[in-house]
Amino acid sequence: MLPNRRQNLIVLPGDGIGPEVIRQAVRVVDWFAKHRGFDCDIRHEAFGAGAYHRTGAFLKEEVLADMMTADAVLFGAMGGAIDAEVVPADIRRQFGLLRVRKEMGLFANLRPVKPFAALADASSLRPEVTRGVDLVVVRELIGGIYFGTPRGIETLPDGQRRGVNTQVYTTSEIRRIGKAAFELARSRHRRVTSVDKANVLEVSQLWRETVTRVGQDYPDVRLDHLYVDTAAMRLVADPRAFDVLLTENMFGDILSDEAAVLVGSLGLLPSASLGEGPGLFEPIHGSAPDIAGGDVANPIGAIATVALLLRHGLGLAEPAAAVERAISSALEQGARTRDIAEPAAPALGTRAMGSRIAGLIAEAHRSSASVAR
Ligand code: NAD
Repeated sequence: MLPNRRQNLIVLPGDGIGPEVIRQAVRVVDWFAKHRGFDCDIRHEAFGAGAYHRTGAFLKEEVLADMMTADAVLFGAMGGAIDAEVVPADIRRQFGLLRVRKEMGLFANLRPVKPFAALADASSLRPEVTRGVDLVVVRELIGGIYFGTPRGIETLPDGQRRGVNTQVYTTSEIRRIGKAAFELARSRHRRVTSVDKANVLEVSQLWRETVTRVGQDYPDVRLDHLYVDTAAMRLVADPRAFDVLLTENMFGDILSDEAAVLVGSLGLLPSASLGEGPGLFEPIHGSAPDIAGGDVANPIGAIATVALLLRHGLGLAEPAAAVERAISSALEQGARTRDIAEPAAPALGTRAMGSRIAGLIAEAHRSSASVAR
């Protein structure tokens, strides 16, 4: 069940609530190391706006080089405090998370969205809409308009300013993300919904054509196409209609945050960014400067991220499921952080929620060991 060689994990807690939630996530990894013989080396490194302001660099170059050969990277969140000096956008783009994703070749971002039964009332949508939802957004992560050139803002001869971005995809980029989505669908309910804007954009027409062609190699998977505006509506009106939602970078950025509404809080959801080499695993939320340092952030997204790291990064399905079961049990037993608690109800802090989940992993392990005896 466990790999027979030492796993090298690089942990980038990042900014704001990143270090708080990642501390709880690492406790879970430590538990597997201590009690289940999971042999791993965990190396913590600075990454983010804080590191940039302190050292002039988001991330040391040698750390980025080592990330390429690690077994997996666990990341918290990045982004400065609300009032702090803002990092210029071009610096962020050239040296921040977008660069890391590009250099690590992380073309596929997976965001599973499966509302917890115990939190049916936490979503702003009615429980009968969210009940039974089980979907994964597969977002292309290193192409499209976030990376296309030309880009920039120029001043025209008449004094007006003009902003330009370029939406661009090649067939090979579409094919590789398409294959990732179809392969994933084969391990789930065998349905892919590809989202584009083919009624207006040529790039989307190429996307649709190429995805259709990839789909011909997966006759056992049903493929549908939706325009992004219809998909946005369907996602909140009839989210059970989706299994694997495949889309490009910007549409995926928007739709995956919309999908978070189904679950009830940004603090609950994990994500995995995968490519040919090691994956990068992070909760979907940002650095939440408004609550940083207060021991109120929900660590569940970060702990669920460990489950994705174990499953998709290291191929350890059983420990991943154990982590997910412990999260569900904690919620079923009524454990709530502030973001998911009723307004006047008591809530656990970040550390207490982490302890509760780690305790439930240990408890489940003890009872299965005693049944086996
Ligand atoms: P955010 O996700 O940080 O916060 C949005 C809202 O959700 C806030 O009210 C916050 O308090 C709440 N929230 C987020 N995570 C939570 C958690 N775990 N528990 C409880 N509540 C939680 O998004 P934002 O406010 O738009 O951005 C803040 C900073 O984070 C910005 O600098 C932004 O650029 C950055 N950001 C980084 C990432 C990333 O690192 N991948 C992603 C999104 C935003």
